[in-house]
Amino acid sequence: MLELTNGGRCVSGLDAVEFFETLPDSIDDDLKDEAFCNEYGYALNRLRYEVSKSIPIPPKVLKAYSKGHKDFYSCGACGFSLRMEIDKYCPNCGRAVGRVGLPHEGASGNTNVL
Ligand SMILES: [Zn+2]
Repeated sequence: MLELTNGGRCVSGLDAVEFFETLPDSIDDDLKDEAFCNEYGYALNRLRYEVSKSIPIPPKVLKAYSKGHKDFYSCGACGFSLRMEIDKYCPNCGRAVGRVGLPHEGASGNTNVL
């Protein structure tokens, strides 16, 4: 039975994808029938999909049009509204939220407004 533990050494998601992309080269050709190749391809697609969700996407920013209003942030992947103080991942699609180049204070670009 598959045991899903959260321990032990791990490689990064991208390294895992790279490993599984090269793995078929080390498997005997006699073992790689059509059914195996199809299942392997489906599993690799799932791995790529799951790893892609962990790669941060910068949010879309709608700048506040006047003082007293906050900038509006939405998910760069699906457009769902984000609470930048709280959300590290999009609540709708699960994609990691990139924060490079954003103000450290969080969602408000108008940090001098009380
Ligand atoms: Zn999203």
